Amino acid sequence: PPRLRFAPSPTGSLHVGGARTALYNWLLAKKGQMEFPKTESGFIIRVEDTDLARSTRESEQEVLGDLKWLGLIWDEGPSSGIPDISGYGPYRQSERNNIYKQAAEKLLQEGKVYRCFCTTEELEEMKAQQEADGIPPRYDGRWRDAPEEEINKMMDAGTPYTIRFKVPEGSRVVIDDAVRGTVAWDAEATVGDFILLRSNGIPVYNFCVAVDDALMGISTVVRAEEHLTNTVRQGLVLDSLGAPRPRYAHCSLILGEDKQKLSKRHGATSCNQFRLDGFLPDAMINYLALLGWNDGTDNEIFTRDELIDAFELHRVVKSPSVFDNEKLRWVNQQHMKMLSLEVLVELVKDQFVFEDLLVEGATASGLGLINMAFATTAIARERMQTTKDAVLNAKTVLGYALPATFDELTDADSKSMIEQGNFFNLAQRILKEYDAGEFPLPNVDNPMSAFQDAISAGSDKKNSTPCEFTQSYQAHMKQMAKEVGVKGKNLFHPVRLALTGEMSGQDVTKQLSLLTLATEKDSVIDAKK
Ligand code: GLU
Repeated sequence: PPRLRFAPSPTGSLHVGGARTALYNWLLAKKGQMEFPKTESGFIIRVEDTDLARSTRESEQEVLGDLKWLGLIWDEGPSSGIPDISGYGPYRQSERNNIYKQAAEKLLQEGKVYRCFCTTEELEEMKAQQEADGIPPRYDGRWRDAPEEEINKMMDAGTPYTIRFKVPEGSRVVIDDAVRGTVAWDAEATVGDFILLRSNGIPVYNFCVAVDDALMGISTVVRAEEHLTNTVRQGLVLDSLGAPRPRYAHCSLILGEDKQKLSKRHGATSCNQFRLDGFLPDAMINYLALLGWNDGTDNEIFTRDELIDAFELHRVVKSPSVFDNEKLRWVNQQHMKMLSLEVLVELVKDQFVFEDLLVEGATASGLGLINMAFATTAIARERMQTTKDAVLNAKTVLGYALPATFDELTDADSKSMIEQGNFFNLAQRILKEYDAGEFPLPNVDNPMSAFQDAISAGSDKKNSTPCEFTQSYQAHMKQMAKEVGVKGKNLFHPVRLALTGEMSGQDVTKQLSLLTLATEKDSVIDAKK
């Protein structure tokens, strides 16, 4: 049965490369679970925290949190307090030391590994000599066939020792990598008799991975290309344990747009940053899937279920992929379009929270801004590529009228208006009406003052219903257009510039409506500073 693992080292946050690896594993596991029961198959998280100096629980929590956000939920993994019933755990390598020791012990009894009593000085001397002789430095196997008495003598004297793997003579490791094809190593020439347990009893990384993959019944290993060479040691250990080797797929690097390895200087690379920047998890996994995979058609937009259905390891490409922020934004836009306005508004609301414009769980006093989120979203949704766009939009359109916090929004009037859903109605109305017809705006020397007129015309009518408010506003606009006698872009380009400081943007009449909405006394109380 398909059992796949994602094995993060908790030394930082989850970045896009790790997320892609997790996703490919998850997709294959989910696909497998359509055929095999969950108790036998699944997506496993194994925390590789053998590097105690660099691993932290905070990082583990971050990584797991990011996976949850992406919806890459695991069937087995580290859990605090909950008993592990699968029998495959524990799922943190730091909690598996006894397992590694037992495995080493067994291999020792079987004569597949041996004790090496070399001191650091001896090993350094060996290396120096090999360098001088022009041969690649490698452990020369001097304890491999040491006589029993000599070993016992060292043991009796309490001499520290390491456990080394006995690389079988003439052994080769050959894998049929799903991405890279056949890869073969002459094991003897590539690795000397390598250490499995250090003299302080700490197991080395490749030993842990091989033991874990064996005992956890891993069927397929999908991981980054940088781990390809580890496959030699891991393959040898797996063989010695009598465990079948998993199928391997080593995925190529993700590059920045300048074709250099993706890093922070290319912009956001951590999943959490994309979350904060207003990307949808479904769009993220859609885009991550495309980073090195396609379904053989031009199709680029996939829902989660479509991905599970379509994903095939053999279609993962060998060439490195380039992380294209514009493309990601476009994919996100396509996914945003699939959402209902209600769902989208909820997400925009979350975004207002991220941006510190909204207090989480805000109630009545906060609803004014929530409705602002409604309004901006309703008006701008066609142009929005991320939910953050809605916030930027609100900021641009509303200028400095946004209150610093929700607590600044008070008063019973706005509460009742909001409870009746008036702002949302208004936003929808504005949308409908502006989509239906053209509303010329004044072309004047000072467009800002014309705007101020319009705005105060709106805010004077503080007791109007939204409908009356909109009508009076339209009338006011028509009046102004008549007075100045100019319409079309000659009119709204300068107006937009004055209003937002930008040359292009959404329909300026909508921007004006929102500005009116924002300064309408019952909706937003205090201006920010
Ligand atoms: N812990 C490794 C990493 O974070 C993964 C190794 C593996 O998948 O075998 O890159």
